[in-house]
Amino acid sequence: MALLVQKYGGTSVGSVERIEAVADRVLKHKQQGDDIIVVVSAMSGETNRLIGLAKSIQAAPDAREMDVLLSTGEQVTIALLSMALMQRGLQAKSYTGSQVRITTDSAHGKARIQDIDTESMRADLDDGKVLVVAGFQGADELGNITTLGRGGSDTTGVALAAALKADECQIYTDVDGVYTTDPRVVDSARRLEKITFEEMLEMASLGSKVLQIRSVEFAGKYQVPLRVLSSFVEGEGTLITTDGEVSMEQPAVSGIAFNRDEAKLTLKGVPDVPGVASKILGPVSDANIEVDMIVQNVSMDGTTDFTFTVHRNDYDKALKVLDLVAKALKAKEVLSDDKIAKVSIVGVGMRSHAGVATSMFKALAEESINIQLISTSEIKVSVIIDEKYMELAVRALHSAFKLNEPNAGVCEA
Ligand code: ASP
Ligand code: MG
Repeated sequence: MALLVQKYGGTSVGSVERIEAVADRVLKHKQQGDDIIVVVSAMSGETNRLIGLAKSIQAAPDAREMDVLLSTGEQVTIALLSMALMQRGLQAKSYTGSQVRITTDSAHGKARIQDIDTESMRADLDDGKVLVVAGFQGADELGNITTLGRGGSDTTGVALAAALKADECQIYTDVDGVYTTDPRVVDSARRLEKITFEEMLEMASLGSKVLQIRSVEFAGKYQVPLRVLSSFVEGEGTLITTDGEVSMEQPAVSGIAFNRDEAKLTLKGVPDVPGVASKILGPVSDANIEVDMIVQNVSMDGTTDFTFTVHRNDYDKALKVLDLVAKALKAKEVLSDDKIAKVSIVGVGMRSHAGVATSMFKALAEESINIQLISTSEIKVSVIIDEKYMELAVRALHSAFKLNEPNAGVCEA
């Protein structure tokens, strides 16, 4: 007998039929003898609909009231699913975040979970009940309703699994697992059986949208085995777990992530003296703009070029800041480009395989794709290229690292 937390996303509870299908699945697991806690999202589209309503009344909606509003989406699905479970002869009980006592800080819209009271859930589980918990929400110490950020039901699922020491947290969604890359771009993309927390975290922060980043961080920290599977088709999904659980013969590259979320800014001809980097990036961070990649060229005649990337949403704001900085530093000019893409290869196997970056650059060169910026970490290599070539680059790398073949990922080049 296992204790399972099963989280169902918006499309999995998007209609009465889908809710019935979830109830059937829960019934099946319950009949196999497992104890089950279900975490649900709002019906698909509902959170966006509520945001739209709020904005039609208040352009910048009050943060506290926004959370009161958004938390209603999940309150609908916990009640409906509990009813569907009862119809199947199961004992079921719904819980909002505050009824569980999921205590968070007071950062409305992006609250962090601080504590989960498990006592009442334990008692209900011992009684044989299926618990249905609203994802994405909690309450601060004063009882104000809070939400955890978009996609936050994943985090609720993982946090409950950690608090209750569940055997597995299963994330049911509309894809049947984590893929070597987006199957919409590469036909031969393959579902991974296993991936490490670290790799998943990189994939998520580099643009793979399967799981909320925070939920992966949480799962890694508390070592909660996490499985991504489809609520539409049967299958094993992808298990996200510790290094030790993933095969020893790890390929160099496990997956390829990409996004068009960034923009590039260059300050040409800045004096190459101590303190310049902070004079450039200080005002950028003061404007609350996050910087991703940073590259400073070698100095020529006492001046250098300084390049960095920011989220595309911050592009205009960053450009304004940089124009002021350029004047202050007497830089030659500001260059900028928001038609770029970031393509990354990710794999813990890189630690033990040499030449992975070189293989990546060679594969891109063979397609005549010019690399504008490079950044590396222990388990990833990212390049910035012209966004026109993004899909071509992803396809070239997928085949160079033979990711369509099981147990591949080692490039021959
Ligand atoms: N309903 C929330 C959202 O759409 C939370 C979630 O689905 O995880 O972001
Ligand atoms: Mg989601």
